[in-house]
Amino acid sequence: MSSLSRRSLLNSLLAASAAFATSPALGAVGGSGEVDVVIIGAGAAGIAAARRIAAANRRVMLIEAAGRIGGRCTTDTKIFGMPYDLGAHWIHNPDSNPLAKLAAGLDIYPAPRTQTLRVGARSARDSELETYLAAVLRAHRAMADLGKAKADFPASRLLPKDLFDWQGAIEFMMGPLATGKDLSDISAFDMARAIDRDSAAFCRQGYGALLAKLAANLPVQLDAPVDAIYWDKKLAIDTPKGNILARAAIITVSTNVLTSDKIEFIPPLPKRQLDAAGKLALGSYDHIALDMPGNPLGLQKDDMVFEQSSGPRTAALLANVSGTSLHLIEVAGGFGRELSAKGEPAMVDFAGEWLSSAFGSNAKRAIKRSHATRWNENPFALGAMSVAGPGNADARKVLLEPLGGKIWFAGEALHDTQWGTVAGAWESGTRAAEAVLRKFGALNESGDDKPAKRKRRRGGDD
Ligand SMILES: Cc1cc2nc3c(=O)[nH]c(=O)nc-3n(C[C@H](O)[C@H](O)[C@H](O)COP(=O)(O)OP(=O)(O)OC[C@H]3O[C@@H](n4cnc5c(N)ncnc54)[C@H](O)[C@@H]3O)c2cc1C
Repeated sequence: MSSLSRRSLLNSLLAASAAFATSPALGAVGGSGEVDVVIIGAGAAGIAAARRIAAANRRVMLIEAAGRIGGRCTTDTKIFGMPYDLGAHWIHNPDSNPLAKLAAGLDIYPAPRTQTLRVGARSARDSELETYLAAVLRAHRAMADLGKAKADFPASRLLPKDLFDWQGAIEFMMGPLATGKDLSDISAFDMARAIDRDSAAFCRQGYGALLAKLAANLPVQLDAPVDAIYWDKKLAIDTPKGNILARAAIITVSTNVLTSDKIEFIPPLPKRQLDAAGKLALGSYDHIALDMPGNPLGLQKDDMVFEQSSGPRTAALLANVSGTSLHLIEVAGGFGRELSAKGEPAMVDFAGEWLSSAFGSNAKRAIKRSHATRWNENPFALGAMSVAGPGNADARKVLLEPLGGKIWFAGEALHDTQWGTVAGAWESGTRAAEAVLRKFGALNESGDDKPAKRKRRRGGDD
């Protein structure tokens, strides 16, 4: 749509807005209308924000581009006929994770703390396990120790260079597997600031199923990619399904979507915000999912397997997911990006090769069905999780600045210590919603909700 037709569309929308000015909360979802807060993106941040705005009795609408909610935290049950988390699966730090606390009715259980190590096609010996554990401990300590550094540098420089035969595996674990990027592409400051992931849990029904449950009863418009946001005078959101006027917008799309041309800002997004989003570009992380019935690898439920690798061309395996026959081969970072660009068949071939080298050639034959996610190609994500490059850690703060008193950003990329996680996205969404409510004067001094004033209906009696 040209900007001329957008302008005329906006004018007619503004003219029509009086009709909505006195309407109560949008009951029926769909079409055009007016709300207090429009939230763009129904992932973890958007859902948390919408819950907070709705709890304060303000009119809210979630607009989602995809045909389902959840964004990068979505559980599929159709591909394999069992829960398959296409994105997030690990519920980090469940004791403090806000989603784990809201999981009533779902089966949340602790993830095993042990890992299985392969050296070639055999299990690691006890002595090798001991060396590995000592190396992991050293690496963890080193990654949090910035010394007296005043200027940022690549996180790869934090990692000790004498991690014995486990250097490659630990580089993979600390960089690509944890963040989607190789350590050389990550800010040491950002890395050191991230909170430790000391424990984890899984949801048997899927992390995405948990998130979807938390979105029940929220007003959501699906299949409605926002294509333009007018934020000069009135705030207006343009989608192929209709247009919405709002007093405030919370934008939760990924940083890669923000820097793409998929959403036109009128006037354009300031360079400061665009540059900040660019400095937080998403890393690459994909699951290659394999259905392997009968536990042919002889592994435990949710067994996490690493190989002793000599370079970045490696992966990890999460076996027998929640006791099912689903196995996830995790590929990430620079190598994961190259592999995913080659397409799903190449990814599945790699997974077969990896299994053969770690468990012998019969392992590959036990694969009955397969699927690979390709998040870099997903038009509504364009990658996996935000990672600040060296020198860019402060970009997260820039995105916290509201625009024109009308637009707030939220999402995993804005969380200072839990970036790249569902919990971080959730907290960021809640914080953005509270910032909007504060702007509306809807929170009292202690941060609690003030009751919403009810508008008089023309000719009405309340
Ligand atoms: C493969 C993978 C594995 C991961 N593993 C874990 C894990 O184990 N644990 C963990 O905590 N985190 C994990 N993460 C990260 C986690 O999934 C994300 O940090 C989190 O889900 C991001 O939530 P969000 O709300 O910030 O963004 P999103 O989930 O991306 O939500 C943004 C929403 O905006 C929508 N959108 C985009 N464009 C438009 C538009 N034009 N109009 C309207 N809507 C639009 C998108 O469809 C999406 O629903 C993983 C991510 C991936 C990809």
